[in-house]
Amino acid sequence: MKFSELNLTPDIQKAILALGYDDMTPIQEATYPIISAGHDLCALAETGSGKTAACTIPLIQKIDPTINAIQGLVVVPTRELCIQYVNEIYKIGASSGVLPFGVYGGFSKGIQEAKLNHEVHVLVATPGRLIDLMYDGTVSLSQVKCVVLDEADELLKTGFLDDIEFIMSCILQEHQTLLFAATMAHDIKKLVNKTLHDPRHVSLMQERTSPESIEHHFQYVHPKNKRSELLRHLTEEDMQQVLIFCNARHKVDDLYRNIKKEVKNIEYIHAGLSQEKRSSIYRDYRKNKIRCLIATDVAGRGLDFSNVSHVINWDLPGDDEQYTHRTGRCGRMGKKGKALTFLTRRDLPHLRKLIQKLKITPLWIGKDILQESTPPQDGKPKKRKRNYRPSRKRKP
Ligand code: ADP
Ligand code: MG
Repeated sequence: MKFSELNLTPDIQKAILALGYDDMTPIQEATYPIISAGHDLCALAETGSGKTAACTIPLIQKIDPTINAIQGLVVVPTRELCIQYVNEIYKIGASSGVLPFGVYGGFSKGIQEAKLNHEVHVLVATPGRLIDLMYDGTVSLSQVKCVVLDEADELLKTGFLDDIEFIMSCILQEHQTLLFAATMAHDIKKLVNKTLHDPRHVSLMQERTSPESIEHHFQYVHPKNKRSELLRHLTEEDMQQVLIFCNARHKVDDLYRNIKKEVKNIEYIHAGLSQEKRSSIYRDYRKNKIRCLIATDVAGRGLDFSNVSHVINWDLPGDDEQYTHRTGRCGRMGKKGKALTFLTRRDLPHLRKLIQKLKITPLWIGKDILQESTPPQDGKPKKRKRNYRPSRKRKP
């Protein structure tokens, strides 16, 4: 189905066309009538399938720009995702007079407060800063009619859940709630129904949660050779843009220090950077001014980098959802993507489970270590370090 067949205002139609959207993606087509009819919704679809526009287009349509009040609220787990949402809403809604604004930590509260006192129709927020502003009395949610929780499974996890429950409890009037996600662990599903009222469910998840357009390569590398293997891939392969994930901030710092002389056009991003630096790196990477970005999972979810051809896991991610989100930064909207994960001997048990759960077909560079009866030795057996695979933190 085409967007032009929908009952959208000419301004919204024009804005959508200017973005190059013509046919609706399956998740957009499946959710549009449900959102327009005013139902609560839980929508699951793979990474890069167009979930942002699926919720923002009908959301914008519900806003009355002649009323100076926040009427739409979008809550997201990271600051960069907040910026991305504001941009998308602005591109689609500005010509209709719909004004979005983003509030997130690490940015002057004073400026955010001044803007909020002026005119905002759709507020995009990370939970912590939103609650801060609610306590200060700068944000009023009394006219909100539609709430979107994107990356909903992340927002319903322990680290964010209390904040989300608090925010939702402050919206007393009748409203519609929309949940969007690419992964949904079993234990989170229970919380979904608690958050929604008589919801409709749309799941376009295939048996495997990762898009068909991504190839999943794995390579066993002795820890001593990881650096040289990474450099070999970075020089020998034709990579438009590459995103390299590490499991902790200090690993990002170390890897950046170790390879920055050999790799041109390389940067790093994690939650330890100032927000100014984080935002400028995010912008430059999106604009393709940076070719190689080393990151923690702060860049793992939701971000749309349409030129990323390769995702490299320097460390095997801690769980299958993290793997899906990281690798989902490439292969978006049907474009081809290649994921490469470096493995060491200790990753073997975890890897087996991960491959089974995700139902992906592993392509091996070098030997298939899952088939070997005696696993390769990474070196002398060492005492297991406590920080080997850190547990998931709120601010990666
Ligand atoms: P998701 O949230 O499902 O991971 P996004 O909303 O980030 O995916 O969309 C992925 C990419 O697809 C973005 O670059 C977006 O601009 C593009 N896109 C979205 N809808 C359409 C469409 N109908 N036609 C073409 N491109 C689209
Ligand atoms: Mg998304």
